[in-house]
Amino acid sequence: MPRIVQKYGGTSVGDVERIKKVAERIKATRDEGHELVVVVSARSGVTNELIARAKAVCEHPSEREMDMLLAIGEQETIALTAMALHGVGVDAVSYTGAQAGIFTDKVHTKAKIKTINAQPIDKDLKQGKVVIVAGFQGINEDGHVTTLGRGGSDLTAIALAAALQADKCEIYTDVDGVYTADPRVVKTARKLNEISYDEMLELASSGSKVMQSRSVEFAKKYGVVFEVRSSFNHNPGTIVKEEVAYMEKVVVRGVAVDKDQAKVIVSNIVDKPGSAARVFRALADANVLVDMIVQNVPRHGVANLTFTVPQGDSHRAQKVLEPVLAEIGGGAVAIHEHIAKLSVVGVGMKTHSGVAATLFQALADVGINIELITTSEIKISIVIDLDRADEAARVTHEAFQLSQLGV
Ligand code: ADP
Ligand code: ASP
Ligand code: MG
Repeated sequence: MPRIVQKYGGTSVGDVERIKKVAERIKATRDEGHELVVVVSARSGVTNELIARAKAVCEHPSEREMDMLLAIGEQETIALTAMALHGVGVDAVSYTGAQAGIFTDKVHTKAKIKTINAQPIDKDLKQGKVVIVAGFQGINEDGHVTTLGRGGSDLTAIALAAALQADKCEIYTDVDGVYTADPRVVKTARKLNEISYDEMLELASSGSKVMQSRSVEFAKKYGVVFEVRSSFNHNPGTIVKEEVAYMEKVVVRGVAVDKDQAKVIVSNIVDKPGSAARVFRALADANVLVDMIVQNVPRHGVANLTFTVPQGDSHRAQKVLEPVLAEIGGGAVAIHEHIAKLSVVGVGMKTHSGVAATLFQALADVGINIELITTSEIKISIVIDLDRADEAARVTHEAFQLSQLGV
């Protein structure tokens, strides 16, 4: 019997009516003769609400307790989904991450999956049951509940598809698939029929939250082909898979915007070997994720270093850098949070020139200033003013004629 893993995101299971609709879709797939594992997220908004409650009782909640709390969201939806399935005559059983055998490392709030013991699920599937698994959570070797980072239900689904050697993995969400830009911001965005793992990974890690970036990394590593599609209609979605030669014909496949970044400027740092190393060692030791890094040409024996970090890390960055700068012999740290990162992504950039020129011209034409620039083989990222981020996404989308993209 073909085996399918389906994942339904927060909006798809947003209230009891929607959970009943999801149960009908699950029943239809089961009735077609498939073995079925279903991963569900918490109802949309629930995880954020739980985080707000944690912050209301404690300014810096312990990460272990945070995981204990956040795991509740998904636990509600697995039980309700199983009950809704019982209501339509489908034999279903719900499992928490731990019960589903999802073992992780010990890093609370962003744990990595180490192994999955697929035996219990396998047994249920063979007995004809539909298995409902809580996304976003696992258990570590000490028996503590862990979570897999925001959007982590995507990772649960992909990892289960790999472990259970599923024939198909479907990620159901509130849009028809992966678009050339966020369709809520760029109205002319087009749905892509397919996209390579590398492009999806760059888009996801640049702010396109349609897929969690770690889940795409995992899919690439284990060769899990998956489809992103809507839970509200039956339109075909977007297939995410290994790059094939014809994909390079398209230079830019998508535009992403990340509004959750902050710019850190370290000014007047002594220009001597080891200064940058000390700065970035201190940041790494404090688990600060550094992205774009630019250093200006040193003058009068001092230099400026500018880089971006997730907003949630910016104050920690400032705190750990101040003593380091004092030790090195001077320098100041300033944080700018009113920024956004815009990225254009496409495997075709490897073989085509002129992408940077087109991007910079499009922004210059509407008077948007570029503050930082970095490039990789298949991506160009820039930092701009937050207030103009959506407009920048639209003019960039237009400049690369992405609304005419037919693939
Ligand atoms: P789920 O709760 O199903 O996991 P998410 O809210 O995490 O859904 O992701 C879906 C959202 O991602 C869409 O509603 C859309 O606004 C946003 N999004 C951002 N960039 C893109 C893109 N390039 N293509 C499709 N959706 C995107
Ligand atoms: N509920 C979690 C979150 O909101 C995980 C997920 O939805 O994928 O991040
Ligand atoms: Mg999501």
